[in-house]
Amino acid sequence: MSETLPSYLAGSWQTGTGAGAPVHDAVTGDLVTGISTEGLDLAGAVRHAREVGGPGLRELGFTERAELVKAVAGAVAERKQELYDLSARAGCTRADSKVDVDGGFGTAMVFAGLGRKGLPSGNVLVEDEETPLGRGGTFVGSHVLTPLRGVALQVNAFNFPVWGMLEKLAPALLAGMPTIVKPASQTAYVAEHAVRIMLEAGILPEGALQLVSGPIPGMFDLLGGQDTVGFTGSAATAAKLRSDPAVTHRSVRFNAEADSLNASVLGPDATAGTPEFDLFVGALVTEMTVKAGQKCTAIRRAFVPQERLDEVSDAVAALLGEVVVGAPGAEGVTMGALVGVDQRDDVRRQVEKLRGEADLVFGDVAKVDVVGADADRGAFLSPILLRATDRSATAPHQVEAFGPVSTLLGYDGVPDLVEQVARGDGSLAGSVVSADADFVREAVVGMAPLHGRILVLDREDAGESTGHGTPMPQLVHGGPGRAGGGEEEGGLRAVRHHLQRTAVQGGPGLARALAGGPSEK
Ligand code: NAP
Repeated sequence: MSETLPSYLAGSWQTGTGAGAPVHDAVTGDLVTGISTEGLDLAGAVRHAREVGGPGLRELGFTERAELVKAVAGAVAERKQELYDLSARAGCTRADSKVDVDGGFGTAMVFAGLGRKGLPSGNVLVEDEETPLGRGGTFVGSHVLTPLRGVALQVNAFNFPVWGMLEKLAPALLAGMPTIVKPASQTAYVAEHAVRIMLEAGILPEGALQLVSGPIPGMFDLLGGQDTVGFTGSAATAAKLRSDPAVTHRSVRFNAEADSLNASVLGPDATAGTPEFDLFVGALVTEMTVKAGQKCTAIRRAFVPQERLDEVSDAVAALLGEVVVGAPGAEGVTMGALVGVDQRDDVRRQVEKLRGEADLVFGDVAKVDVVGADADRGAFLSPILLRATDRSATAPHQVEAFGPVSTLLGYDGVPDLVEQVARGDGSLAGSVVSADADFVREAVVGMAPLHGRILVLDREDAGESTGHGTPMPQLVHGGPGRAGGGEEEGGLRAVRHHLQRTAVQGGPGLARALAGGPSEK
């Protein structure tokens, strides 16, 4: 890999000056690449997107662009092995990289299918039926949606360099907006390779996809009301970007997917020995260990009926005891490394905050046995299970340790459960694991205003369930409050984010005529 990671701007691969900020291999600590955008013409990239990429995409219609999305997803699928191999350097096991890589092209495929079936051939989408606006029936109104003329900038988190990019790219392409991708520095080399694969496939019109492999100083200054920003990352960065004048003064459409302290709830019916008990314990361990817990949707708070905390603690600890930490691909390894030692050290600091109000049930934050790697050079961490017995504890509801860390909490009835869940200030994903329909109804209705998505898991749906942590492209991904207040995915809703809704008023059949359909006149 080159010393400084290239960016793809205005039709060519370009490299920033200087060695750039170092990015290290999560497993060996070796230098992977450097990150720099110094000296690159970022304003030229924005211009190129608007003047070349957008018009090129909008020469096609929605359904033709759906074919592009399908072809792009196919190109990534064909070369997925290259992405798995690179992701291993970021600490990902094969199962982890499948979540990112297969999840990425799978999501794009779903969008392509939705676009082919649900969107028209031109660039005008008629949204609704006509509403009569006069008594005589000669004057009506309805809404049409047309592609914005700007650029879709996506700013992504480190944990899903492929999925995070494709789940934003697919709807923007469908809508007819050119995209500039700004990946997170720690895994930008994985995103860079995915972009290279898509560009080498020669499918996309020039300017439809550009990549900035590093900081984007000044780029927000260039954005305005025809542009969109899709941000995924921490609540702190979301707050900073949301308060930029591009958003506050010039109305850039800004969508944030931030962090959250997601809850999973064990129902009172799910006693030891029931399928639901095992499903709850299994899901918690899965969410703690997939991607070493570096998932925005991972279960951080596991709520259990107060009197059953002991048996649940024992069952989860027993399963965590089977986790083998080590180098991706090494014999028997079931959990890889965190993305880097800085991230590991940050998780350790957050665990210390949690430990001020919670007891350690499983794991050792300072030490872990590692297979196939040097524990001192790689960013390894043991899974950490905590248990908070003091009901007034605040840290479990506020501190996100972005690693293999979860806290067990007791609850006493649904009102207490909902009050405690609400202390997380809004989440992306929640689970209710129970076969008791009354409990499920009460808990889900109570938790719904606090969540973007809720999974109800029981013995009947478990076989087909996609799991707590997996956003589905057909359904909304996002959440209120701390989770960022945004919505991504959700089928064609995500495409509409890049379209302008315009109320058109005139004679009957006007909207249909604008869309190229037969006029009634
Ligand atoms: P982060 O530090 O907030 O960074 C996110 C992105 O913002 C990175 O690309 C980062 O670039 C960029 N960035 C930082 N400051 C910026 C600025 N001033 N202007 C423009 N871009 C800027 O988050 P992270 O550490 O990558 O990701 C972990 C967090 O993301 C966790 O809290 C997790 O919960 C959350 N997350 C949420 C979701 C979701 O869907 N809701 C998904 C994944 C992760 P650099 O890397 O170059 O600094």
